Amino acid sequence: MKKIALFEHPLATTPIVELSEDYAGNHLYVKRDDMVPFCFGGNKARKAAEFYKEIQKANADVVMTYGSNSSNHCRIIANMAAAMGLSCHIISPAENREQLYNTKLVEQFGAVVETCPVTEVATTIANRIKAYEEEGRRPYFITGGGHGNPGTESYVKAYREIMCWQRETGVQFDYIFHASGTGTTQAGLVCGQLLMREQSLQEEKQPQIIGISIAREEARGREVVKDSIREYLGEKFETLFTEEALCFTDAYRLGGYGEYDSQITDTIAYVMAREGIPMDTTYVGKAFTGMLQYLKEYSILHKNILFIHTGGAPLYFDKL
Ligand SMILES: *Cc1c(COP(=O)(O)O)cnc(C)c1O
Repeated sequence: MKKIALFEHPLATTPIVELSEDYAGNHLYVKRDDMVPFCFGGNKARKAAEFYKEIQKANADVVMTYGSNSSNHCRIIANMAAAMGLSCHIISPAENREQLYNTKLVEQFGAVVETCPVTEVATTIANRIKAYEEEGRRPYFITGGGHGNPGTESYVKAYREIMCWQRETGVQFDYIFHASGTGTTQAGLVCGQLLMREQSLQEEKQPQIIGISIAREEARGREVVKDSIREYLGEKFETLFTEEALCFTDAYRLGGYGEYDSQITDTIAYVMAREGIPMDTTYVGKAFTGMLQYLKEYSILHKNILFIHTGGAPLYFDKL
């Protein structure tokens, strides 16, 4: 199995940049996780760096995962498998096969893409794993979106980076906003915060983390994030977890996954021209626009806000 030098060492921290003007009357900073230096970056690259270690430990020879034709996660995993010299097998819903940039990249990395109706995903995955094992191969399956403890761990680390940056600069964030999908990113940030709280002797002021749902409705979305937090914290969950630490809003999801409006595209165009920061319509642009609305609706003013840019560069070009 070949090594990826970048993933062998702890990932260097991503930059936190201050925006040029106040947005919705607040002082904004962006953590550029879109600049994680692997395959156009993003939170899936951060998560992949943790799964990389698990794949090595398992001595796998085929990496399997699940995702749609637009999946950032599948792009990253296909690239990682190619770089490790391993086969990659992706199960993908047959319903939408439009060739997007991520679809093309996955193909270019040589991954096998197996399509099936979305209702048969679970059985298709189980059958394929079994078939590989019967051939004497060693598959390693990564849940769609890089969901699971290694994914959560990657954002516990990101939270620590943010706290270090605060200490170095003296800037204190009142809020952290980000796009929430499978909820792993949010679970990691919240776990990072809960663990930090446990370790600090005095009650240090911690920012309120707010996940802007890009697809799921509040009840289910919240529950999934909470499950990931429980899974990661284990027996510490009961003592550390508080409901206030978990804020997940579905007020800006529009019709659901992939839906967007002219307010989002206008915001994306403005931020690109003014700041030089690209955002896609499905995740980052949608969450950033939702955040600005949230700040207005809750009359939040003159605060320090950190927005985490979770990536999705190829989706920006899909819509250009
Ligand atoms: C997957 C993804 C998200 C959502 O992250 P989760 O950990 O699934 O909540 C946000 N932004 C981008 C660009 C993504 O690809």
